[in-house]
Amino acid sequence: MTRSKQKMTMRQVEDALNTIAERQNQIAHLLQNLLQEAEKQNTIMLNLLIDLDKIEVIICPSCEGVINFPTMKGLERDTHCPYCQKALDSNQQTLFGEEE
Ligand SMILES: [Zn+2]
Repeated sequence: MTRSKQKMTMRQVEDALNTIAERQNQIAHLLQNLLQEAEKQNTIMLNLLIDLDKIEVIICPSCEGVINFPTMKGLERDTHCPYCQKALDSNQQTLFGEEE
């Protein structure tokens, strides 16, 4: 038998749409949980780094946004403010290693 060409009933369309909406809700919920978890990890990491004195706090000269830089080998310091995107290097404060 060939596949029936019968159209979906309104009821079936409705069910299908409901299923899609339900899936979307589940995905949104999942994403929200993931984001919350990521934020939590971020906070833990930041506090840990502050405790270990591995954070350099920079105030953006343009927008006065507070930027936390982890001071670690292999991690490049941001050159631009994540908030206003302006260059941070205009007044280079303490960089790594105070050699003088
Ligand atoms: Zn800024």
